[in-house]
Amino acid sequence: MGKRVVIVGGGAAGASAAARARRLDPEAEIVMLDKGLFISHAPCGIPYYIGGVVKEAQDLAIYTPEEFAKERRITVKINAEVFDVDTKNQVVYAREGNETVKYQWDVLIIATGAKPITLPVEGHDLNGILTLSFHMRRQN
Ligand SMILES: Cc1cc2nc3c(=O)[nH]c(=O)nc-3n(C[C@H](O)[C@H](O)[C@H](O)COP(=O)(O)OP(=O)(O)OC[C@H]3O[C@@H](n4cnc5c(N)ncnc54)[C@H](O)[C@@H]3O)c2cc1C
Repeated sequence: MGKRVVIVGGGAAGASAAARARRLDPEAEIVMLDKGLFISHAPCGIPYYIGGVVKEAQDLAIYTPEEFAKERRITVKINAEVFDVDTKNQVVYAREGNETVKYQWDVLIIATGAKPITLPVEGHDLNGILTLSFHMRRQN
């Protein structure tokens, strides 16, 4: 059995790490978990989506989970939010719908991105000053 590689976050960093892990180890069992609906997404395109130039949010994603799985043999779970990492037993726990799913890892990569900040300048808290990030969720 190959190494079990678990990647938390399927954005640019997570998807690149997953692809690299596959190139380095053809035998590895690679699982990528993302709490949102898309992987390998391009947040730099969000202004075009808001402006109506890009019509569908999924067009900002370079790969679908299915393509990623087929072309790279990487298991992708969307709508899978990791809420606990047990480093002693090398396990992560993800919430997938109403279920909690446990993933054992030999290698864990955390690629959960960053949070936007507002600048410490006058007017940063005025109405209409917003931050932007790519976290599209399924509505329950
Ligand atoms: C408007 C805008 C324009 C930009 N323009 C450019 C540009 O022109 N050039 C450039 O180089 N960069 C640009 N960037 C920055 C670039 O988009 C980011 O650097 C890049 O997306 C970071 O990728 P990442 O994978 O680290 O994080 P993210 O893209 O934030 O991905 C993190 C992923 O982790 C998932 N996640 C988080 N927590 C959990 C959890 N607990 N369980 C499971 N999944 C989780 C999230 O759902 C997300 O999919 C821009 C960003 C924005 C917002």
